[in-house]
Amino acid sequence: MVEDEVDLAELVAFNLREAGHEVVTAGTGASALAEIKRARPDLVVLDVMLPDISGLEVCRRLRRERRDVPVVMLTAKGEEVDRIVGFEVGADDYVVKPFSPRELVLRVDAILRRTSRAAPPTEDSPEPIQIGVLLLDVAAHRVDVEGQEVHLTALEFRLLLDLASRRGRVQSRDRLLERVWGYSKGVETRTVDTHVKRLREKLGAASKYIETVRGVGYRMQSS
Ligand code: CA
Repeated sequence: MVEDEVDLAELVAFNLREAGHEVVTAGTGASALAEIKRARPDLVVLDVMLPDISGLEVCRRLRRERRDVPVVMLTAKGEEVDRIVGFEVGADDYVVKPFSPRELVLRVDAILRRTSRAAPPTEDSPEPIQIGVLLLDVAAHRVDVEGQEVHLTALEFRLLLDLASRRGRVQSRDRLLERVWGYSKGVETRTVDTHVKRLREKLGAASKYIETVRGVGYRMQSS
C-alpha cells in the first residue's frame, strides 16, 4: 500500500488486514520500489500523488522488473485515467478518491482471485481469430491490425479476447467486469469504458469492430 497520507494508508491497510491480507506500507515512491523488491507483493495499491516520484513513474519502473504484478492506482484526478490504464503505465484498475475502503478491498480480492487461479487446462493451440483486418493469435498472445503488431496490456488482451470470442453478441459491462476483471456483480466502476476507449485507440483501423450498444455494453462485430 503506497500512499504518503498516513491516515488514508492506515485506513486502507487496516481494511485489507481485516480481509486477511498481509500489508506492507510505504510513504514515498523510492521506499515503495525498495519494499516491492524486498517483500515481493502479490498486488500493489499505488497512489498517484507521492512526495518524491509520481505513482505513475513508480508503476512504470515496477513494470520493468515485474511485468505481471497487478497494480490498482489511487487517483484524485480524472484526467490521468487514460495514462494510468494505458500501455504507458498499464495499471489493472484505478480508484478515484475519495473511495470507500470496502470498495477497494472488493477489487483487491477479485484481482487476487483471478491471478491466483490455477492455470487453465492446456488446450490444443486455439485457432487465431480473424475479424476483418484484425488478427488475434491467442496461442502467441499477439494482436495484429493490417499486418502490424499492436502492443496491448495483459488486461487489454483479455478484454479483446473476451469480446472477440463472443463476437456478434452484446456483452454487458457487468459480464465483462465479471469475466475480465473477476469482479462480482454490483461493483460500481467506469473501468470498462475507460479500457475499451484505450483499446479502440490502439486498434486504429480495427477499432470500429467494437461497437457500443447504448445502455447495455459492447459487441464485437462478427466479421
Ligand atoms: Ca498521496
